[in-house]
Amino acid sequence: MRLLLLAPPGAGKGTQGGRLAAWSGAAHIAAGDLLRAQARAGGPLGREIAAHQARGDLVPDQIVLDVLTPAVTEAAGRGGYILDGFPRTLPQATAAAELAARLGVTLEAAVHLYAPEAVLTRRLLDRARQSGRADDTADVIGHRLRVFADTTGPLVPYYAGRGILIAVDADQPPDTVAADIQAGLSALSLPRSPRPTPAE
Ligand code: ADP
Repeated sequence: MRLLLLAPPGAGKGTQGGRLAAWSGAAHIAAGDLLRAQARAGGPLGREIAAHQARGDLVPDQIVLDVLTPAVTEAAGRGGYILDGFPRTLPQATAAAELAARLGVTLEAAVHLYAPEAVLTRRLLDRARQSGRADDTADVIGHRLRVFADTTGPLVPYYAGRGILIAVDADQPPDTVAADIQAGLSALSLPRSPRPTPAE
């Protein structure tokens, strides 16, 4: 299975990404986690990533591609990938599509999780008490939601145009969201089972 989750902060892409990975056997690749790990590793690159993340700004495309490409390439060679938080800009989406075409492993579905901004803000503020993340403060949360709307929002029509978009209402309990995603995948005839070997 090869799919991506297109979802604003607080929509539950981490939760649904983990479930989809467990269910399908594909690798769950969370861009924010990989970038945070790189930030913790320090050095000039780590410090640059940490500064962007703390402000709630997107990390520059080239850095994201350098960090994400090895993980996506490796997963593509095995059971596939569930991309959580990547791509997040049109240039990232174009670069990812070129990489996938080169590897012969194109994307099968893009799952768009949507919810009203008030719901997303409330969830993020609830999570902020436990997360300890530098970007989980009221100001930065508002900025992250605006960045998503402006920069990642245009990916929704991009994937719809490719005929692989599944839009799911994320303002529902996690089991219901998961069931709606499954229904959307079935409508696209996914997952595709391996071709049976013809009998002799
Ligand atoms: P959330 O979706 O709640 O913002 P993530 O962990 O997915 O949480 O992302 C946290 C931060 O990591 C983003 O605000 C951004 O700084 C950085 N980030 C994650 N994915 C990308 C990406 N694909 N491109 C650029 N920056 C990214």
